[in-house]
Amino acid sequence: RISYYNGEYVNHDEMRIKSGDRAFYFGDGVYEVVRIYDGRFFTLDEHTDRLMASAEEVMIRGLERDEIVEILHEVRERNAITDGALYIQVSRGIAPRDHSFPDGSKPVIYASIREAKRPHGQMEEGVRAVTTEDYRWLKCHVKSLNLLANVMEKQYAVENGAKETIMHRDGVVTEGSSTNVFMVRNGTLFTHPADNLILNGITRQEVLKLAEANEIPFREEGFTVPDMSEADEVFYTSTTQEITPVTNIDGRQVGDGSVGGTTRKLQSLFNKKITQLKSV
Ligand code: PMP
Repeated sequence: RISYYNGEYVNHDEMRIKSGDRAFYFGDGVYEVVRIYDGRFFTLDEHTDRLMASAEEVMIRGLERDEIVEILHEVRERNAITDGALYIQVSRGIAPRDHSFPDGSKPVIYASIREAKRPHGQMEEGVRAVTTEDYRWLKCHVKSLNLLANVMEKQYAVENGAKETIMHRDGVVTEGSSTNVFMVRNGTLFTHPADNLILNGITRQEVLKLAEANEIPFREEGFTVPDMSEADEVFYTSTTQEITPVTNIDGRQVGDGSVGGTTRKLQSLFNKKITQLKSV
């Protein structure tokens, strides 16, 4: 497996990370995960734009969009992976440990690819989720490397026999530990607005586009945990988890406990988009 770090393409297992990399001390950087289906990128431009926007938001300067795109393509081409996920991160730079931004350091890019099968089983059957307080910072729209809260939140799910933790701020559902959350009530789709309290997922945006194009009513509006418990359907979205139905929350079944019709419809539309990609 060939990966990229700080100007070099190297064998992944032999990669040497610089000890002064601010990603290492501070999680001082931003990242993206891009999907590869059948050897091709899915929504590459959207991910690249969001990476640039995240960098801008945390004042990581001197990042070139063209360079990012070139590295993404190069890593994909140097590895024979059909269905995969390409991870790319940009740290603020390499310098002795000090909180303030280092003078004259350049952003450090790391990229690696792994095989990632589509999650057919869970998309078919649904998963269990648990809810908990969202105690993250107030810049959740930045795809920050600093994921300690998200890691803690995910582990809460694991230790409670669930697949994902759905977070709420003052009772209003924000998002999952690494996913965006939707509910369906009386045929209308609801999801938290894309403000500073959530990451505006690329999959979230794709689902909203599909809803728009197919006359599925939707509202980007906060809803509460009790609203969600009474919803007909709940699902979450992400680059790797696609559209995953949630059939049980905090031990109680959602709707009649089976995967709902609107979820199925969106899964099928999303699937069509992926299949179209293959024929281009
Ligand atoms: N929210 C959070 C906190 C995430 O980490 C992710 C995935 N990295 C998402 C939502 C989903 O975003 P996307 O659809 O772009 O993968």
